[in-house]
Amino acid sequence: MTTTDQKPGSVRYVTYGCKANQYDTQVLREALGRRGLAEVDRGADLVVVNTCTVTAEAGRKARQLIRRIHRETPKTRIAVTGCLAESEPEVLRELPGVDWVLGNGDAKRPVQFLRQLGWEADPEELGIPAGITAFAGHTRAFVKIQDGCDKACAFCIIPSTRGRSTSRPAAELAAEITALVESGHVEVVLCGIHIGHWGLDLGQSLADLLEVLVALEPRGADGQPLAYRLRLSSIEATEVCDRIVALIAARPERLAPHLHMPMQSGADRVLERMNRWYSVEEYLAACDRIRSQLDRPAFTADILVGFPGESAADFDRTLETARRAGFTKVHVFPFSARPGTAAWDLPDRVDPQAVRERRAALSELAHELGNAYQQSLVGAQETVVLEGFAGLCGRYQRVRVDPERLAGMPATVDVTLELHSSEGVERRELWGVPR
Ligand code: SF4
Repeated sequence: MTTTDQKPGSVRYVTYGCKANQYDTQVLREALGRRGLAEVDRGADLVVVNTCTVTAEAGRKARQLIRRIHRETPKTRIAVTGCLAESEPEVLRELPGVDWVLGNGDAKRPVQFLRQLGWEADPEELGIPAGITAFAGHTRAFVKIQDGCDKACAFCIIPSTRGRSTSRPAAELAAEITALVESGHVEVVLCGIHIGHWGLDLGQSLADLLEVLVALEPRGADGQPLAYRLRLSSIEATEVCDRIVALIAARPERLAPHLHMPMQSGADRVLERMNRWYSVEEYLAACDRIRSQLDRPAFTADILVGFPGESAADFDRTLETARRAGFTKVHVFPFSARPGTAAWDLPDRVDPQAVRERRAALSELAHELGNAYQQSLVGAQETVVLEGFAGLCGRYQRVRVDPERLAGMPATVDVTLELHSSEGVERRELWGVPR
């Protein structure tokens, strides 16, 4: 273990996993930056590896990276944090070169983190605000509004690594988002682990928070109001209440008409084994209710294939449900058994070849549904948040813009959508014609 008089002078960050993890890294980046650590791409005294443990593959990649860092630069000190540091601290401590294993509790409180690294300082002295002031290198910023989860899905390790749901106060989030917009971030993605449960511990609801956040009044240096867009990162379909839908319907330019609603399976039998709390019909009813109140909303989803006991007939039902839901994009995850979850002990593991085939079939369907959605957007008017000469529109489509039609390098551009075929590109692409 490193002693307190050997403090590093430079740092590099490597982040795996979800948006909440990326936010946690940014919190550390700002805290360590205030302490004078220079961020560098190579040759850092310290590498902070913020890990994920949601799949076995995520853990394997992090361990592989740590071994490589130590092999190539044995003097580099390594601090491992994040969910893997919670679920496998002993394994990580044994890896050569690892000086610190800091769980989510330490990582969430940067002052604690700094103390572990050898700085004795109080938060006042460090000037660490509750949150972040920038999102390095991006037009879009992620803001974590809550952490943890009170559910117990059979495949998920997260409740044991991040604890119960805790919400950040609305006033703190309002101040953080205002500052981010005023520093140039034109889109803010509201993320967390189970954001539909925001406020349960505060006697409030996510709709209460969103009402506050859509009404912020950030101002530029010239005192003029600044436009901004909020996007929900991932929310359970059953938790998208009518108040949230009404907020999107009233101000789609402010709250993006895009909902990422994890479905996980389209077969009731599998949902029950997964310990999910809704039926297929309830999920589809939520989609229908939302769609009836919004103009061409984008529905994206996570679907897990090959959960223990998933039969070929169950998978066919998943395909049918995905089609009925009309997803515009699907993240397909093959089941990954994680020790400590209920699914770890479940019998009837699915043959790996069948999992591969199901993954391919669902991806193909998602591709087909995505194409149909793109077609439906031709002629739509959208604001694109640019990173270079392409970016995301409110409906979560990547849109390209001809550089010659852009004046300078704006952060956003208002466009009318067209669909083009490009040479060498299999799928047609959305292009935005500036208005
Ligand atoms: S709702 Fe289920 S999948 Fe999502 S974080 Fe909680 S336990 Fe995991």
